[in-house]
Amino acid sequence: MSTTPEDAGGWLRIDLDAIAENYRRIQSSVARKTTVGAAVKADAYGLGAAQVAPKLQRAGCAHFFVAAVSEGIGLRAALGPDANIFLLNGPFPGSEETLVTHGIIPVLNSMTQISRWATLGQQNRRRMPSVIQLDSGMSRFGLNAHDLGSLGTFLPHLELRLVMSHLACADEPGHDLNAAQQATFRRLRADLPPAPTSLAASSGVFLGPDYHFDLVRPGYALYGGNPTPDKPNPMQPVVSLHIRMVQDRWINPGASVGYGARFIAQKATRIATLASGYADGLPRSAGGRAFAILPERPDCHLPFVGRVSMDCLALDITALGDMPLPAGTPFEVIGHQMPLDSLATELDTIGYELLTSLGDRYHRAYIENSL
Ligand SMILES: *Cc1c(COP(=O)(O)O)cnc(C)c1O
Repeated sequence: MSTTPEDAGGWLRIDLDAIAENYRRIQSSVARKTTVGAAVKADAYGLGAAQVAPKLQRAGCAHFFVAAVSEGIGLRAALGPDANIFLLNGPFPGSEETLVTHGIIPVLNSMTQISRWATLGQQNRRRMPSVIQLDSGMSRFGLNAHDLGSLGTFLPHLELRLVMSHLACADEPGHDLNAAQQATFRRLRADLPPAPTSLAASSGVFLGPDYHFDLVRPGYALYGGNPTPDKPNPMQPVVSLHIRMVQDRWINPGASVGYGARFIAQKATRIATLASGYADGLPRSAGGRAFAILPERPDCHLPFVGRVSMDCLALDITALGDMPLPAGTPFEVIGHQMPLDSLATELDTIGYELLTSLGDRYHRAYIENSL
């Protein structure tokens, strides 16, 4: 869906130069020999893989991770033949040929995925490019020590490009599981032939060099999210979201706002109705938790009140007094005054969920001054 700024209920601004800058920041946080890949699954965390992935490619990225086959096919078209595209979830039975057609390299997570992929290689007399995932303690994807014992017959049909695992608690640097997973990863990978290794996503990069291995695979940090939640954000903000006012009114004490009358005014209250709702990715439960900001009045935190509707929400703007506000006035929901991670904390979620929920009714502006 495409829309003009005048028509749209909200404006989403995505700074592609900031994404490239964040790629460089990650590159400078790891050793020169460590490759920086990028997680661009879920349409580059909702920001638009067709715009984001080519920008990362121009910044020097050559390794891209998607979750679904359809994402890999779209990415191949956007990036051309040289990009390495990895399918994190691996192939479902019957999708192997599609991966071959589009040059998508599967992350092989289970013995059944390995057996089907190796069988295809045996039939075609070629070694199949592969990533093997090890389960170092997250119990989600990957092989355990027992699986590795029965891998021998398949290995001759695989060309091992990467051995990887994933950290469950990398955003909690003090968590015991980090060191335990790293040790398990090192122990398990010793049973495989030599190949580059990868363990860290965004937060793992900031656990230090012991976690970097040969390739890191950040997503969230590239998109301006804070990979170190207990410290200031080392990344440059990428996303801002402004939602526009349809109308406003003063209500009397005792008047209710929205479905279920979940907000009752205690005093004379000025309510602004803004033109985005849960269909645009704002949680229905945001009332009483989140704040928006009028850019000219950054000192006023304006609370969401009542239940968020499908296409609109209510803001208590009493703090602005009688300041005139024309229809269409934009309020910042994500941006410099209201960082993505702060909004996520208020909403009891994570910025990842907010980004991947961003709807397609916003007007999207991609900022790019440097190619
Ligand atoms: C999503 C994902 C990443 C990227 O994670 P971020 O926390 O966004 O950096 C890396 N590796 C795997 C296996 C993933 O699923």
